[in-house]
Amino acid sequence: MRITVIDQPRPGAASRASAGILAPSIAGLPESVRAAALEARDLYPHYLEMLRDRTDIDVPLDRQGILELAVSEAELERSAALSGPSAARLDARALASLEPALAVHAGAIHHPHDGAVDNVTLMAALDVAVARHPRITRITDEISSFDARGNLPAFLSRGGTRYASRRLLVASGAWAGSLPGLPRPLPVRPVRGQLVRLEGLPIRHVVHLADGYLVPRAGTLIVGATSEEVGFDSQTTPRGLAALRAIATRAVPVLGHAAVADHWAGLRPIAPDGVPIYGADPSVPALAYACGLSRNGVLFGPWAAKQLAPLLAGGPAPATLDPFRLDRLFQDTP
Ligand SMILES: Cc1cc2nc3c(=O)[nH]c(=O)nc-3n(C[C@H](O)[C@H](O)[C@H](O)COP(=O)(O)OP(=O)(O)OC[C@H]3O[C@@H](n4cnc5c(N)ncnc54)[C@H](O)[C@@H]3O)c2cc1C
Repeated sequence: MRITVIDQPRPGAASRASAGILAPSIAGLPESVRAAALEARDLYPHYLEMLRDRTDIDVPLDRQGILELAVSEAELERSAALSGPSAARLDARALASLEPALAVHAGAIHHPHDGAVDNVTLMAALDVAVARHPRITRITDEISSFDARGNLPAFLSRGGTRYASRRLLVASGAWAGSLPGLPRPLPVRPVRGQLVRLEGLPIRHVVHLADGYLVPRAGTLIVGATSEEVGFDSQTTPRGLAALRAIATRAVPVLGHAAVADHWAGLRPIAPDGVPIYGADPSVPALAYACGLSRNGVLFGPWAAKQLAPLLAGGPAPATLDPFRLDRLFQDTP
């Protein structure tokens, strides 16, 4: 196959803005996609090896496990009851010996196989892999609509170019819901997430709290994330940054004084049930979707690409994609 990637960079694009957490154990995903999420996480080491072979870029992958913090005994019990068989319950002492900066807490659940990928380096590696690939062409252009007329369906650009192909994939993030001409408008909306990077690194593990998370990265600590319905506004705000500071300080009190190294925001492409949309359009088989990736798009990315490949090559979609089909969201309409 020859592949053309058409992309017009936009402020708020999610993949670089994300925190890169790979947390199928605590992502709050429905049971129907739990196995796929675990498989997606476990595919990462092999995927990053393949990328390293092609690009010489080593994308950092943290697989030390994630600590799900509990602020009280009751919360610890609740989280333990909801955790999978591989999770370990750490009481306050065990937690303090693993992460002394978390000694103030009642305990944590350790999800040993979850972790985080450095998504910024990952995106840089993908840029190089795409540039080096002899059969992938990358074009910077703004797609203004989908057009099913003619021999081959096509994306039309704002400048009038018609990109026709036997297979088309919509992968336009938070903007997928506003692409004209599709058989039906996609139920995808932007939800802003703000993040801040603090100087210093008092912890080694990714830490998950009820309302946020901390991700160690390159000697600094990323703290996330807000969840705001503000349309396509991708700015950070004083209020958002204060909320993130409060999350950080609640987890690790010394972070109350940590200097801010950086802050940014991204737009999550949210589907109504929080499950990505992967697969063919129900009425136009030449059209496929990888959008509405919601809060776990980085986690699912390589797994979804592998599942979608046979479909994009002209075959049927594998059954593994059934829980992700678009028509699950339209079951009450003909
Ligand atoms: C703050 C935050 C934290 C997150 N944390 C995590 C996490 O820890 N773990 C995890 O797994 N996921 C996380 N996510 C979610 C994850 O980042 C997203 O699900 C995923 O990156 C979405 O990828 P995408 O390719 O669909 O969208 P994007 O990365 O937004 O890419 C879409 C691209 O399409 C382009 N585009 C849009 N419309 C057009 C058009 N008409 N013509 C041409 N180009 C167009 C855009 O410019 C953009 O480049 C987070 C997201 C945010 C915002």
